[in-house]
Amino acid sequence: MEKQDFYCNDLVHYSRFITREVAIGAVSLGGTNPIRIQSMTTTDTMDTAGTVAQCIRIIESGCDYVRITAPSLNEAKNLDQIKKQLRKSGFDTPLIADIHFTPNAAEMAARIVEKVRINPGNYVDKKKFESIVYDDSSYQYELERIRKKFIPLVKVCKEYGTALRVGANHGSLSDRIMSRYGDTPLGMVESALEFIRICEEENFYQIVISMKASNPKVMVQAYRLLVNKMLASQMNYPLHLGVTEAGEGEDGRIKSAVGIGSLLEDGLGDTIRVSLTEDPEFEAPVAKTLVNRYNKRGYNINDMSPTAFSFITDPLKSYYSPFNYEKQPSKEVVTIGGSHVPRIIADLSQRLVQNPSALFALGYRYSVPNDKWNILDMAADYIFTGDQIIPFEIPGALGVIINSEVWEQNAEKERHYPLFTASTFVASSKLHPALNFIHTDISNLSTELIQKTTSLNNVVYIVDTDSEHGMAEQRALFIKLIGSGSKVPVIFKRNYVNLEPEALQLYASTDLGSLLLDGFGDGIWISAEGCTTLANLNSTGFGILQATRTRISKTEYISCPSCGRTLFNLQEVTAKIRHRTQHLKGVKIGIMGCIVNGPGEMADADYGYVGAGVGKITLYKGKEVVKKNIPSEEAVEALVNLIKAYGDWIDEPVNQ
Ligand code: SF4
Repeated sequence: MEKQDFYCNDLVHYSRFITREVAIGAVSLGGTNPIRIQSMTTTDTMDTAGTVAQCIRIIESGCDYVRITAPSLNEAKNLDQIKKQLRKSGFDTPLIADIHFTPNAAEMAARIVEKVRINPGNYVDKKKFESIVYDDSSYQYELERIRKKFIPLVKVCKEYGTALRVGANHGSLSDRIMSRYGDTPLGMVESALEFIRICEEENFYQIVISMKASNPKVMVQAYRLLVNKMLASQMNYPLHLGVTEAGEGEDGRIKSAVGIGSLLEDGLGDTIRVSLTEDPEFEAPVAKTLVNRYNKRGYNINDMSPTAFSFITDPLKSYYSPFNYEKQPSKEVVTIGGSHVPRIIADLSQRLVQNPSALFALGYRYSVPNDKWNILDMAADYIFTGDQIIPFEIPGALGVIINSEVWEQNAEKERHYPLFTASTFVASSKLHPALNFIHTDISNLSTELIQKTTSLNNVVYIVDTDSEHGMAEQRALFIKLIGSGSKVPVIFKRNYVNLEPEALQLYASTDLGSLLLDGFGDGIWISAEGCTTLANLNSTGFGILQATRTRISKTEYISCPSCGRTLFNLQEVTAKIRHRTQHLKGVKIGIMGCIVNGPGEMADADYGYVGAGVGKITLYKGKEVVKKNIPSEEAVEALVNLIKAYGDWIDEPVNQ
């Protein structure tokens, strides 16, 4: 693999990318320190008692750092009171000030807390959604202006030993960066690197970097590109990972795990924050579950050794690009591969499938009076039933996978397809004319098997693993298939045993979501024993496809986690909006607590519901304001009317 492709130590084993160690008070970050966990307060920073109480709840939930918003000088000053009271109560957890625009607030905060976070998209740079053409000299002039205004903060940080996070956000890039790079991962990376270079000119290296986005695909690409560019400049600053505006509940957890988990699998990340539209103390347990998985995987030194990539004989980009999403082409086999969306396979092999009710949890409803099936948007595409033949009329959209020995005796059974092992397939003389599944892992994927299947148009691989580094192993297998020219569709399968429902959700999202983000595969199969209900498992599968934006089956909510700026009860309002709009498949709705940062952070939402003042809401269509300052009690209805006016509304389907 050529050096320009590097963004991690090893594509096929877990190997942590060791970064420069940065002191954040007494709790250092990066290097071989554990991956740190943090969260952020949602209280008004001027409410000292409320903020201190919430900080304590956050610390007790397992956070190593607490971030507090400081939008203006007053809040920045009040950090001193908050810190004193926390220390008096026996908590020495380092504090981080979250700054958006104002240098004087940042410089004040840097004298008080252990770390300051700035957003290079709006710290002394402009974000007015203006399209300005910058030539080289006006671009340079602006950079020089930023330099002058930013250096005083760097000097304070140096003097007080305060760390600095340069945190770029997709959606809040400055007009200047947008004019040159567009709203792209490269724009995010360059936006941060411009500030980092200024820090380095001042010999300041206590830096942490983040590249957040609400779209995990963009977020993962941006972090990888950042590491790639850092390596080219001999930098190794620690990474703060996060998916912004991930939302709440299952969707928020899946989206966070797909983004953060994919990078952790790459060995990247020194601290994480899971941003949920829930009370902040719910974030650390999710973050801990994500991170704990890697504690026992050990560390490898940053060697970038040839052996780590020796299975790749050509430049990585001739196989796939980790910096741009591109779906790997595959053949169309019945409803799998080709231009079809990724498929969901449900495992019913441990259950009795005797009547239609066995399919209810998988999105199929049988109406007895109408004698017909209703198929929901989130209906599994195939079921695996082991040795069971289905004794009733199955829905038209559903296929049944059964063990090949049983299939051979029932080959005429409609829409029942055989599952072979790698060895039984090679030896088999009888195949289904349209669709055959081959269950394999990396050790059974022989050259003979690849050669036998490459020319066939009726086979699909089910790729399994029981490796601790399962994602990396499945990635290696897929790269091997690309290298051999195979276009046989691939379904990635993972098995989980006795996990808590939330852990199952997070691990499956990490393991399978990361492969889908690489553009690999044509479907997923999650098999779980003693973890959760079949309905939850089905929903997790569709959630992973939604979070990777490979198959949209529901409304998407981009809702901010709230902070001291929030102008309404985000959790309550998100629930209300969700209640009215959750049937609008594919529509993206941003729900943002404040007008200062909300519009920028909504990224690619189709509609925006943004707090404009106390009791006032402003509605957006894309980035355009369409209704200003609506009383909050009328705003949800106004949002519904707006969606109707733009033709994106459909009436809720009535279940029969
Ligand atoms: S958008 Fe939400 S989280 Fe971001 S600053 Fe505004 S209220 Fe706070």
